[in-house]
Order: sequence, then C-alpha cells, then structure tokens
Amino acid sequence: MTRRTKIIATIGPASDSVPVLRKMIESGMDVARLGLAHGTIDDALERYHRIRSVAAEVGREVGIMIDLPGPKVRLASFGTVPVDLDSGLAITIEPGRATSDHQILGVDYPDFLSDVHAGDVLSIGDGSVDIRIESVGANSAGARVIHGGTVQGSPGLHIPSDRLRISSPTPDDLTKLDAFVDAGVDMVAISFVRSAHDIRKVGTEPYPRGPLIVAKIETRAAVNNLSGIIEAAGAIMVARGDLGAELGIEELPHIQKQIIRDCIASGKPVITATQMLESMVTAPAPTRAEVSDVANAVFDGSSAVMLSGESAIGNDPVNTVGTMARIVQRADKDFDFAAWARRIRLMGKMSSVSGDAQITDAMSGATWRAASEMNVDAIICISESGFTVRAIARFRPQMPIIAFSPVERTVRQLTLSWGATPILSPHRVDSLSMMDDLVCIARDAGLVRAGDTVAVLAGAGGASDLHATDVLRVMRVK
Ligand code: PEP
Repeated sequence: MTRRTKIIATIGPASDSVPVLRKMIESGMDVARLGLAHGTIDDALERYHRIRSVAAEVGREVGIMIDLPGPKVRLASFGTVPVDLDSGLAITIEPGRATSDHQILGVDYPDFLSDVHAGDVLSIGDGSVDIRIESVGANSAGARVIHGGTVQGSPGLHIPSDRLRISSPTPDDLTKLDAFVDAGVDMVAISFVRSAHDIRKVGTEPYPRGPLIVAKIETRAAVNNLSGIIEAAGAIMVARGDLGAELGIEELPHIQKQIIRDCIASGKPVITATQMLESMVTAPAPTRAEVSDVANAVFDGSSAVMLSGESAIGNDPVNTVGTMARIVQRADKDFDFAAWARRIRLMGKMSSVSGDAQITDAMSGATWRAASEMNVDAIICISESGFTVRAIARFRPQMPIIAFSPVERTVRQLTLSWGATPILSPHRVDSLSMMDDLVCIARDAGLVRAGDTVAVLAGAGGASDLHATDVLRVMRVK
C-alpha cells in the first residue's frame, strides 16, 4: 500500500543544500515548509527556487508552503551555543535589545512592556522554559525562571494572544506574501489567526489561481471560531506549539482530535504539527512516545504530519524524514477506514457547499459508495481545482486515490491531501475517450494494472470543478 498520510518538512540551515533536499524528497517529503520568521525575502526565494529545481530533477511532485510568522514574538538570539536558564534565576527582559544571554533577554516586540503584566507566566521555545513576570518598568521587565531549561538561537516567547495588539496577517506578512505569490507558491500558512476575517484579509485569488491558505490554529480565539475558519481556509494546521502554551498542554490531544474531525467532515486537509519527532534534533532515533504520537495523529485522521526543528536545524533531516515515513506507512495500514466512512456518512453533506459544489459533493459520495461496494482497485479522480479530490479524500477510502489535474498548481496543492497521488494531466477532460487516456497513463505509471477495476470521477464540462464533477464510470483497465 502506498503511504496515505503526507509528510511536511520544514527547510532550514540543516536541510537547504541540494544533496540533502534530494534525499529528503526521496525519503518521503511531500511538502517543503519555509518559515519566514528569519532571514531576508531574497534568501527565502532562493531556497524556494532550489526546492523547485531539485523536485523537478528527482521527478516528484513536491508542494511548497511558506509560513508567515504573524505577530510571533521572539527573543533576541542567544547564539548557537545552548544557554541554560536555570529554575529560580532572576532575569531582565528588554524590548529592542539585539542579543540575549542568561541574565538579560532581548525581545523583538516593541509593545511588550504594555502588553504583559506582573504575574503573567510566559513560555519560551514551545515550553522549554517558563518564566513569571515579577515587575514591569519603563524600559524593561523583571522575571523569574519557574521551569528551567536550555535555549538556543531566537526562540519564540508566547504571550497570550488576546493581549497582543497586532493582528494577523501583519503588514510585513503581506509584503512577504506578495513576493511568493509572484513566484507561484502553492500554500501559505497564516499564524495566530483569530477569526475567518483574518483569512479573508489575506486577499489572494482563490485556489488554484492563488495559493491554498492554511490557517494555523494556535490561539484561543481560533478554537472558539473554528467552524468559520475551516470554512474560510483551504486547509488547517493544528499548531501545537503555541496552542499548547495558550490553552494548556493537557488540552492538546482533545482539541487535536476535534479539529481533525471537523476538517475531514468539511473536506479540508488538516496538518498535525510540532514536536512530533523532537528528540531527533539531536538523536538518531525518536523516543517511543514520539513514535506513538505520530501513529496516533495518523489514526486521528491527519492529512499530513509535520517536522519543524527536526528537519530545519536537526542533525540528520534525511533520517528524520525516513523515520517519519516508516512510522506513518505502518500506521496507515491499521487506519480504521470503515469507522471514518460511517462517521462521514452520518454527517451527511459537506458543510457550506452550495451551487455546483453540491453536485460534486453528491457525486463524490456516490463514487465512494460504488468504489466500496465493488471493492475497486483505485479511484481515479480528474479535477481542475482539487476540490473533487478533497471531497473524495474525506471518506478516507481504503483504495488509492489517483488525482489528475491539468493545472500544475493544483497538482502541487494535492501533495497535502490525504491518500492522493497527484499527477499532471496532459489535457482537460471533456470526453469519455479522454477519461480512457488518463486511465492508460495511470496504468503506464504502474499505479493500476490491466484487468483492475477502477472508479473514475470527472467533470464532463471540463472548464472547472464548479462546472460540476458529474460523470462517474466504473471500468476495467485495458
Ligand atoms: C506551532 O506553534 O506549533 C507552529 C507550527 O508554529 P511555529 O512553528 O511558527 O511556531
């Protein structure tokens, strides 16, 4: 069985050379994520073009996602040597200071002193260190380390999102976004989203003419406004780092399951992110608990699982991607396909679909029923925007989904979709014979064999998905 759950790997200094990128793609990276919190736009664009050319050379479809930092507050750099911040240590935090050490921490947020209050507990670096603010003065704040740990580089400092004055996307985000939209980026992740309005502010063309917008759920407000955000976004990320700091880590497993369930029901890809194989930043193998976390994210129904520091700054990004691929592939085998399909059937049609999309919704349900009753070898789905593929993927069918699109960006956006093997179609489909051609292409690529039974779903109108995906054929591969 081909792997159904996709792998996103964050690219950083440990992984941006051509040989490492090549091996990461060969080891299973489906989507490369570029964090834009550090460095210049030109450097990030250079990385972007390098990934594109390595993917072309390897001959694999690889999606590229940029991650806009939003109002993420960071400490000034501690440098490359790890620094211990011991429990009980008294520290000073100074906005605007260019460096941090074990006594004075710089912070890049000018309004820090007005937004925090004495008594606030703030976490550094996704929970590596917790500090309590003891006093707030005109130029600095005094704090004490309550849970000590080691820090390095420029870690994030989590300030409760309802205190932050700036909202997402920030003006800086939108400048960065423009450069990458011009370059043709596939997906854009928006940090610290609080409502569907934040997604609408991004203002790009709807996919696939524009990028797929990925809303990162990492604020309390986003959890409260989840259904509107799922409806407005193209995909969702459970950003467990900041979300854990915001809600309390004990809430994470529960909220992760709820977000994933709601996304699948709406036909939206959903990513489980952060600290999945964290120990592999330095170790050659993950902890047993991390292996279970990745497998459980698969059982929960995640469309994709994500590597952050493990692949960006870790010792061995290639081994980390390969390890994740092995864990996911094994967990995919035990995924409870039947239970998901029952649940989705009970939920009825996708929320918020209207017009021609309702036809696609009904046809994707009919395809899934026919495919299951006949136990076909594959579902072949022909889609302009990818909407039909995502509608089919919500049933989490046991058989492979072979996803053809004539639109290059759709093909790359489908690298995020559960179960889909995306392939560029040489032409739009507006006749039955063209459907036959694509089945032959799937056969020649080794994805189906002569004699297999396949369910083929397409829009006979050809112009767009919303022109209705209205033809279902069950046929034998020649
Ligand atoms: C997170 O907070 O879990 C996350 C994915 O965001 P970032 O990596 O930008 O902190």
